[in-house]
Amino acid sequence: MKKTLAIIVLLLAAIGAGAFAFMQWKANSGAKAEITELTEKAAESEKKQEEAEKSLAEVKEQLAPLQLTAQQMEAVKAAFSNGVTLKDLEAAYAKDKNLSAERLLGLAGVRLLTKGNQDPATLSAFEKALEMTDWTKQQKVICAAQYALASAGKQIKPLSECAMPPQMAKAEEASKDGHDAQAGAKDAHGKDTKKDDKSGHGNKKVVHWDYEGSMGPENWGKEFPRCGRGKEQSPLDIKGPFQKVRFSVAPDYKPGPLRIVNNGHTIQVNVNPGSKLRIDGVPFDLLQFHFHRPSEEAINGKRQAMVAHFVHKSSDGELAVLGVLLQMGNENPAIKTLWEHAPAKEGPEQQPEGVAFNPASLLPRDLDFYHYDGSLTTPPCTEKVKFYILRNMATISSEQVSQFPFKMNARPLQPLNQRVIMAN
Ligand SMILES: [Zn+2]
Repeated sequence: MKKTLAIIVLLLAAIGAGAFAFMQWKANSGAKAEITELTEKAAESEKKQEEAEKSLAEVKEQLAPLQLTAQQMEAVKAAFSNGVTLKDLEAAYAKDKNLSAERLLGLAGVRLLTKGNQDPATLSAFEKALEMTDWTKQQKVICAAQYALASAGKQIKPLSECAMPPQMAKAEEASKDGHDAQAGAKDAHGKDTKKDDKSGHGNKKVVHWDYEGSMGPENWGKEFPRCGRGKEQSPLDIKGPFQKVRFSVAPDYKPGPLRIVNNGHTIQVNVNPGSKLRIDGVPFDLLQFHFHRPSEEAINGKRQAMVAHFVHKSSDGELAVLGVLLQMGNENPAIKTLWEHAPAKEGPEQQPEGVAFNPASLLPRDLDFYHYDGSLTTPPCTEKVKFYILRNMATISSEQVSQFPFKMNARPLQPLNQRVIMAN
C-alpha cells in the first residue's frame, strides 16, 4: 500500500515536472519567435533607412544641377529687373507691325523676366506669339509659349511633341536612371535630336521622324497619335465622283526677299507678311511654301514628279494648303531661282542678298481646284487643314527634280474614310 502511494506521488511529481518543463519550453519558444520577429523587423527598418538615405542622396544629386539652373535664372532675372531692356525692345518693336513669332516670343520672355508671370501683358504677349506661330514649323516657339502660359497657371497642356523644358527633362531622366543625368540634359534643349537618338531613353524631346526606317511614316503614330489614329489625314488619292462647289481661290502673292531653308525634311521658303490667298472671299496669310518629291497627292492613283505646298493661315487660325503639282516637262524658271539658293544640307534659314522672289511665279494660270479636309502631311499630322489642289499643273525638268536634295519626302496616301472630295 505504501509502495503504491509512493508510486502515485512519484507519478504526480513526474507529471508536474513534465508540465512545468512544457510550460517553460513553450514560454521560451514564444520568446524566441518574438526575438526572431523583432530581429527581422530591425533588419527591415535598417534596410528601409538605407534605401531612404540612398534616394535622398539621389535627390540631392539631381537637385544640384537644378539649383545651378535656378541660380542662373535668378541672375538673368536680376539683369532684366530694372525694365530698361524691356522698354528698349518695346520701343524698337513698336514701329514694326509685323513682328515675327520669334520676336514676339523674345519680347514675352523679357517681359516675363521683368514683370513676372502674373502680368496680364506678359500673358497676352505669349498668347500673341502662339497665335502668330507657323504650326507646321515653329514647334519650339509653340512649346516655349505653351510652357510659359502653363507656368503662369493658364489651362494649357503643352503639345505632346513639345520638348520638356531642360530642368524637367533632366529631372525625369535622372529619376529614370540616376547615373545618366548629364546625358539627358544635353539633348533636352531640342536642338536636333536626330543624331542623339542612340540614347534611346524614350523621353519626350523633339522627336525625330523620317520618311523611311524605324521612324518612317508607318511608325509616326507611335510618337504622334494623330498620324496613326486620325480619320481625316492627308495626302489623298484624288478621284471622282466630285461634289461641285461654287467658290474660287484668289491668290494675292507679293514679291519679297527670298528666305530659304533646308529643315532636314524639305526645302522651304518662308514668306514675309503681306501675301494672301482669298478662299471664298476669306483672306488667308501665306506663311511658307515647300516641296515634296514625288507629289504627295495622286490623281486617279498617279503621282507627279513633285508638288509645291503653299501653307496659309486665317486670322481664326485655320490652316489652308494650296497644292501645285509639278509634272515632268520643261525647266521651271521660278524653281531655277529657288534651287540656286537652296541649301544642300540641313541648317538655318538663308537670305541671299538682293534676291527677291514672288511665290505667284510658281502658280499655273488657271486655278480650278480639288478640295478636301485633310491634315498636315508631316508630324504631328494635325487635322482640320483645308486642301486645295490645283487641277492644272506646272512643269519641272528631270534635271531640276534630281537637284532637289531629298530623294523621297512624300507621305503615303491616306484613306479617304467618310470624306467627299469637292471640285469647282
Ligand atoms: Zn507639304
